[in-house]
Amino acid sequence: MIQDISAIMFDERQIHTRIKELGEQISKDYCGKTPVLLCILKGASMFMADLMRSITIPVEIDFMAISSYGDSRKSSGVVQIKKDVDVNLDGRHVIIVEDIVDTGLSLKYLKDYISKHNPNSLATCVLLDKPSGHKIEVSVEYIGFQVANEFVVGYGLDYAQKYRNLPFIGILKEEVYS
Ligand code: 5GP
Repeated sequence: MIQDISAIMFDERQIHTRIKELGEQISKDYCGKTPVLLCILKGASMFMADLMRSITIPVEIDFMAISSYGDSRKSSGVVQIKKDVDVNLDGRHVIIVEDIVDTGLSLKYLKDYISKHNPNSLATCVLLDKPSGHKIEVSVEYIGFQVANEFVVGYGLDYAQKYRNLPFIGILKEEVYS
């Protein structure tokens, strides 16, 4: 796998340092509450596992699985729900935990969908944000890192279901997908 990576963008130490900071911020902001961390599978699985361990207040967790139509590198914004939420979100403080925001279309869909469950509050925590890719305005309360418009894999993020188990975030060589 490593031979398909052109450069390491964030190594394990950088990722864990930043996630610790995010966890501390969330613990402070939600002090006295028990938020529901809603992990969006599969890309956010590794992020979720580390983020929840860095939060020091009680949390509940749940998972949603979605898939987006279109080619495997660009989301179309048309999302299919493969696994729905189990926890009753009515009146709860919900934090969506996502891997990456590019166009923002998937996140917009998710936020609209979760809003219909009448949460008390709804926030979003994403590991990576690509500001230059945004096609719509979508608010994100917690961002791990802002990145340039490169296709990245590792730490849960895939290309054609591969590379998720890399412990770092790296740029995929163009020759792999072109
Ligand atoms: P959006 O709807 O914001 O354009 O795209 C979000 C989804 O597209 C992410 O959840 C992810 O599945 C995929 N995506 C966008 N950029 C990247 C990237 O650089 N690497 C990988 N592996 N997936 C990406």
